Amino acid sequence: MTQSMNRTRSAELYEEALKHIVGGVNSPSRSFKAVGGGAPVFMKQARGAHFWDADGNQYIDYLAAFGPIITGHAHPHITKAITSAAENGVLYGTPTELEIQLAKMLKDAIPSMDKVRFVNSGTEAVMTTIRVARAYTERSKIIKFAGCYHGHSDLVLVAAGSGPSTLGIPDSAGIPPSIAHEVITVPFNDLEALQEALEHWGDDVAAVMVEPIVGNFGMVMPKPGFLEGLCKLARANGSLVIYDEVITAFRFHYGSAQTYPGLLNHEAIQPDLTALGKIIGGGLPIGAYGGRKEIMEQVAPLGPAYQAGTMAGNPASIASGIACLEVLQTEGVYEEMERLAIKLADGLQASAQRHGIPLMINRISGAFSTHFCSHPVTNYEEAQDTDGEAFAAFFRHMLDQGILLAASKYEAWFLTTAHQAADIDQTLAAAEEAFRRMAAQ
Ligand code: PMP
Repeated sequence: MTQSMNRTRSAELYEEALKHIVGGVNSPSRSFKAVGGGAPVFMKQARGAHFWDADGNQYIDYLAAFGPIITGHAHPHITKAITSAAENGVLYGTPTELEIQLAKMLKDAIPSMDKVRFVNSGTEAVMTTIRVARAYTERSKIIKFAGCYHGHSDLVLVAAGSGPSTLGIPDSAGIPPSIAHEVITVPFNDLEALQEALEHWGDDVAAVMVEPIVGNFGMVMPKPGFLEGLCKLARANGSLVIYDEVITAFRFHYGSAQTYPGLLNHEAIQPDLTALGKIIGGGLPIGAYGGRKEIMEQVAPLGPAYQAGTMAGNPASIASGIACLEVLQTEGVYEEMERLAIKLADGLQASAQRHGIPLMINRISGAFSTHFCSHPVTNYEEAQDTDGEAFAAFFRHMLDQGILLAASKYEAWFLTTAHQAADIDQTLAAAEEAFRRMAAQ
């Protein structure tokens, strides 16, 4: 068990990839830069909750492709939907009936959305909600929260979390100051700071944008009253409220954060616009945004705010998304993911404690984050103030025992409908060994 896994082929592929693909990866979070560098694992096959890499090693997957793979890999119902979509032609450039079906499913689950538009990624969805909010309010500034990640469009890469913070790049190069000046960043869970910002920027603020439950500096719940206060303050200022639910929609229950039973007072926390992605495509590229009718009617062809997409609403992504949501409608799936997540999180906590390693776990339904620290994590500053080296050591000890986590202390562990009790037992045994090694160092 203490022997390191052989990942020679991954190392070779990484060398080769570096020659042709910038940084060897097609998204920076896939690199191992935040956990000490070196070759990431090149995966070759995935089924259910398991991966096989290019050297034939097997892993239990808690990455879930950074969120979308909530039913596990190659779920038969989703695979069938994708295959049959492919057989009928993957891209039409015309409307299709299936798009209406998925739009209705989203609206039924997230009632604040009167109208929906499909795009191709979470980045696009968020980017467009900002444009629409600006068009509707005829204002230009956006308030966001430190550490929340909203994709990689210019405006929201200011003090962004997730990938950029992991790599120690608070702002991306290539974003002109004139654009950064349109964004005001305040700490999450801090209504006073929000109020101050709104008082200062007043009539310039088009929207307040937030991950209503944070997934990008660990999983962080809004404090009681935070979202209510946010909505009230924004509206009193004539600003719109945008929820980025790219991670949270359909993650914790069949619905989104704005309807999550773990958050009370739903009427008082409804946003004007919502951005979606990840799970709603069942693993194929997708994004969507929606909101109040009169706001959404700003969008072309009805209104003056332009947004378009050659691939938007393509039949394969839509069919995959419908199939994924159908699986998630199965009785008891969220309860089972939560049951396994509780067992895993409690087991990790107890195991870390046995070895004297400080660990805080933020768990929400079937997802959680592991913070190597002794203080609660309720905002980005507290998430930064955790032991990144301890996380990196833990990550590598787990990887060596066939447990795949996201390679960043800010990312979550995701349970899927494919995880079984035996996976949890194996993961806990690996964690016990990982903590033992860390304590012995
Ligand atoms: N918003 C949130 C909350 C996200 O977590 C992400 C991606 N991790 C995005 C937006 C961007 O989505 P995509 O990577 O599909 O562009």
